Amino acid sequence: MLAVEEARARVVDAIRARDHTERIPAAGADGRYLAVPPVARLGNPAFDNSAMDGFAVRTTDLDPAGGGLPVAFTVAAGDAAGRLPAGACARIMTGAPVPEGADAVVMQEKVETAGDSARFPERPPVGDHIRRAGEDIAVGQALAAAGERVGPALISALITAGVAEVEVVTKPRVFVLSTGSELRDPDAEMGPGQIPDSNRPALLAELARLGVEPVDGGRVADDIDSLRAVLARGGECDAILTSGGVSVGAFDHVKQVLGEAGEIGFWKVAIKPGKPFAFGRLGGAYFFGLPGNPVSALVTFQQFVRPALIRLMGGTPAIVRTRAEAAAGFERSHAARTEFLRARLRWDGGRLLATPLSRQGSGMVGGMSRAHGYVVLEAGSHGFAAGDPVVVEPAGDWCGYGEPRARGEE
Ligand code: AMP
Ligand code: MG
Repeated sequence: MLAVEEARARVVDAIRARDHTERIPAAGADGRYLAVPPVARLGNPAFDNSAMDGFAVRTTDLDPAGGGLPVAFTVAAGDAAGRLPAGACARIMTGAPVPEGADAVVMQEKVETAGDSARFPERPPVGDHIRRAGEDIAVGQALAAAGERVGPALISALITAGVAEVEVVTKPRVFVLSTGSELRDPDAEMGPGQIPDSNRPALLAELARLGVEPVDGGRVADDIDSLRAVLARGGECDAILTSGGVSVGAFDHVKQVLGEAGEIGFWKVAIKPGKPFAFGRLGGAYFFGLPGNPVSALVTFQQFVRPALIRLMGGTPAIVRTRAEAAAGFERSHAARTEFLRARLRWDGGRLLATPLSRQGSGMVGGMSRAHGYVVLEAGSHGFAAGDPVVVEPAGDWCGYGEPRARGEE
């Protein structure tokens, strides 16, 4: 069986980044991957300007022992700068252009004003409180590299640099299909053995966040002909995600159809939850066969599919983990697989504490919905005791957006 890292590397290495691109407004590019490095049309600052409300001066005109200088004029943000006459100063506001000839700004609080004159008890160093043109972004500079993901700060930098449009990779279309004769809509009257289809909405939500174009393929019963037909449709998209039917049960047909109509790269990974996970190709699409158990489906999505789709959009996927202290212990007897224990994470007394949730079953989405992320237990590890160091992987975007649940640990 493939180890998690090896499976992820095999998936990501098999993906060829798309070369379809489009020009879109920079203001609407959040979450998109750049195809071409955007180039600054304006510098930041665009011109020398004042970092303070105060007075623009020529430092050589200042004599701390002497009298005041006449205030020649006032420059506000949005004004043209003008030229500072010799032996005079100018009142200046934050963001206003520094008048030609001035070489420092003295903050208001350090100036004694009387009528139309201002006295400066100290002489500032040259350049004080002046934000120099281009000191942050130079005209003609690349603001980011191809393959970078646009976020709010890059949008701010792009707009600041006068870049109204960016060239990004087009969104891949990702087909999502649930398999299972037991699956129904959430508001249906459930017959014997029937359950709501939760994987499809959860995976569609993951995909929407990732910035691809989700295609809802609906659900299909455990019938091999229906599965063939619907997967042929999926093969016209850039990627296919199925859930369920990939194990070794009598009605698990996904692997068979993939083998007949496409090619199987691998279909088992040493991961818990989630051992059955198939990767391959079908038609023009990359194929990801996720396990049916809802926790397994999400964990394998995050470990394998998300990195693959990031690669498909030209990005460089990265797994972010850190160390924490276990707030409670966890023991396991089977240590053959890498395990992703759902856990709550909390910054407390100068350390990051991880508490594994008590409900760890691969169908226990109720437990998972209270987790902030995972404690990652490598294969070979039999667990840990309270107080031990553990490796954690935060999940989702809870950081800075508040707790998934405010109360209690579980
Ligand atoms: P399977 O991988 O098809 O054997 O499914 C494993 C378990 O996950 C079974 O209990 C299924 O009923 C359940 N399951 C499969 N697909 C879904 C789904 N889309 N939503 C909720 N549960 C599912
Ligand atoms: Mg099934």
